[in-house]
Amino acid sequence: MANFFLDNKDIQFQLQHPLMRKIVELKERGFAEKDKYETAPKNFEDAMDSYLRVMEIAGEVAADVIAPNAEGVDHEGPRVVDDHVVYASGTRQNLDAITAAGLGGITLPRKYNGLNFPLVCFVMANEMVARADAGFENLWGLQDCAETLNEFGSEELKMKYLPGVAEGETWAMTLTEPDAGSDLGAVMLKAHWDEAKGTWLLNGVKRFITNGDGDVSLVLARTEEGTKDARGLSMLVYDRKSMAVKVRRIENKFGIKGSPTCELVFTNAPAELVGDRKMGLIKYVMALMNAARLGIGAQSLGLCEAAYHEGLKYARERAQFGKAIINFPAVYEMLNNAKARIAAARALLYETTRFVEIYKQYEHISHERELSAEERAEMKFYSRLADAFTPMQKLFLSEYANSIAYDMLQIHGGSGYMKDYPIERIVRDARITNIYEGTSQLQVVAAINHVTKGTYLSQIEAYEAETLPASLEPIRKKLAAMKAEFVKMVTKVEGIEAEHKGEGFKDFHARRLVETAGHIIMTWVLAKEAAVLPEDYTLQLDTFVLIAEAEVAKAAAAIEASKWEDIALYKTILKEAE
Ligand SMILES: Cc1cc2nc3c(=O)[nH]c(=O)nc-3n(C[C@H](O)[C@H](O)[C@H](O)COP(=O)(O)OP(=O)(O)OC[C@H]3O[C@@H](n4cnc5c(N)ncnc54)[C@H](O)[C@@H]3O)c2cc1C
Repeated sequence: MANFFLDNKDIQFQLQHPLMRKIVELKERGFAEKDKYETAPKNFEDAMDSYLRVMEIAGEVAADVIAPNAEGVDHEGPRVVDDHVVYASGTRQNLDAITAAGLGGITLPRKYNGLNFPLVCFVMANEMVARADAGFENLWGLQDCAETLNEFGSEELKMKYLPGVAEGETWAMTLTEPDAGSDLGAVMLKAHWDEAKGTWLLNGVKRFITNGDGDVSLVLARTEEGTKDARGLSMLVYDRKSMAVKVRRIENKFGIKGSPTCELVFTNAPAELVGDRKMGLIKYVMALMNAARLGIGAQSLGLCEAAYHEGLKYARERAQFGKAIINFPAVYEMLNNAKARIAAARALLYETTRFVEIYKQYEHISHERELSAEERAEMKFYSRLADAFTPMQKLFLSEYANSIAYDMLQIHGGSGYMKDYPIERIVRDARITNIYEGTSQLQVVAAINHVTKGTYLSQIEAYEAETLPASLEPIRKKLAAMKAEFVKMVTKVEGIEAEHKGEGFKDFHARRLVETAGHIIMTWVLAKEAAVLPEDYTLQLDTFVLIAEAEVAKAAAAIEASKWEDIALYKTILKEAE
C-alpha cells in the first residue's frame, strides 16, 4: 500500500521540531482535557503518537484513494444540475473516504467534534492531499474557514456550524466579485437586516468562488449602506440548507478541474453576522486569507513533490543514446535543483506554520484568561513573524510549484506535452497557485513592509545567533555575504525612494528585495535542518545555497545598476499603446 506520509522522511522530520513541545503545550492548555475526552492526550508523547497515527492515515488515504482518482476527476469535472453543483464521482469518493478516516476538523476543538491537532498537522495533511490531487485539496482545504469561525464567531454559531466539519460538510470562502479581485475593499454584494424576518439577507453576485455551493459559506458583504470602502464590509455565514444561492455557472478552467469554481447569484439569501459589523475585511478576512495562504503553500508543496516524483520516475525509465536519461547532467541538474528547492520550501512552510500556530494559540488563550506580560510579548513577537513569513512562503512556494512542474515536464520531452502522463495535469494545476489567495505581486505588497521595517533582518540575525556545527561554517560565511548584499540593496532603494517620493522606486524593486530576504531565510532554515540531520540535508543545502547566491547576485546587480529614471519605461509603453 502506498503512503505519502511514510514514504516521505522530510515531512515526518517536521514533526520533530523542538518548537513542537511548546505548540502542543499551548494547544492542549497543559493537557487540561485529558480526563474529559477519551481521545485527549495525557502528555506530549501521547499527543505526538496520535499525530503520527493520524498523519499515517492521511498519507494512506491520499496515496490509495485520492491519487488514483485524480485523472478521472480532472477528466470528468463537476457540473451544474438545477442551479447546484454535482461533484465528479471521484471527488465524492474522496470526500467520503477522507471523512470516514476521521480527517475532518483536524484543528477544531474537541467540543465541536474536532481532533484539536496543531496547524502543523493540518498543513501536513493538505500537503499530502495536494500531492495526490491539488484540485481536491483546493476544496477539502477550505475547512480552514471553520477555523476563522472558531476564532471570531459566537458560541451559538460555532455550535451550529463547526460539528459538521467532522461529518464531511464542505466550506466556501466567498469574497471575489467581478469588480473586486485583488481590491476586496470594492466588494458590493449587499447585506441588509430584515426586521420582519429577523435575519440578514444577501443580494448580489460573486464570482470565482471555489466550492461556491459548499455546505457553509463565509461571505464578505456590504452591510453599511452608502459606503464604498473596506469599512462598510462585514462577514456573514450562509447555510446552504436555505437553498437561496444559485450557481449560475462553473468556470471552464485551465487546471484544478475537479474543483468547482462558481459564479453565484444571491437572492434574499439569509445569513448570520460573524463577529462585529464593519470588521469583515479589516480583521476577519485578513485572518482567513492568512490561513488560506498557508493552505496554498501546502498545496504548492504537494504539487512540487508530485512533479518531482513524476520527473524522477520518467528520468529513470526513459533511455536515449543507450542509457537512462537520468545519467545526463542536464537532466539530473533539474532534479538536483528541484530536490534542493523542495527541501528549502518545506523548511520555510513549516517554520511559518509554527509561528502562526504559536501566536494564534496565545490569541485563543487570551479569550479564556488574561495573558502574562511575558506571554503577551511572545504573542506579539510571533504575530509579527507570522505576518512577515506568510506572504513570503506563499510567494516562494507557489512560484516553485510552477517552475518545478515546468522542469519536470521538460524531463518528459514530447511525452510531457501529452495527456498520457500526470505531469501535464500537474503543470496545469500548479498555474493557479500564484494567482489566487492574492497574486505573487500582492504577496510582495504584503511583504515589502517587513523589508523596510526590518522584520526579516532581525529574524536573520536571530538565526545567526544560533550555533551551527563547524562543518557548516562555509555556509554561515556565504549567508553573511548574502546578508551584506541585502542590507546594501535596501539602503540604496530606500535612499532613492526618499529622494523621489511617490515615483514608485521601492515598489518597482520590491520583489527583488523580498526574494533576496527569502533566499537568505530559506538557506538559514535549511541549514538548521542540516545541523540536526547532516546525512539527509547537507547535499540539499549545498545545492540550495548555490541557487540562493545566484539569485541574490542577480537581484543585487539589477538594483546596483538601477537609476530612478529607468523605471519610467512604462510611460513609453503606455504612449505606444495609445
Ligand atoms: C480557480 C480560482 C479559484 C478561486 N477561488 C476563490 C475563492 O474560493 N474565493 C474567492 O473569494 N476568490 C477566489 N478566486 C479569486 C482570486 O482570489 C482572484 O482571482 C485573485 O485574487 C486576483 O483577482 P483578479 O482575478 O480580479 O485579478 P486583478 O485583481 O484584476 O489583478 C490583475 C493583475 O493586476 C495585478 N495587481 C492588481 N492590483 C495590484 C497591486 N495593488 N499591486 C501590484 N499588482 C496588482 C495582479 O497581480 C494581477 O497580475 C479564485 C480565482 C480562481 C482563478
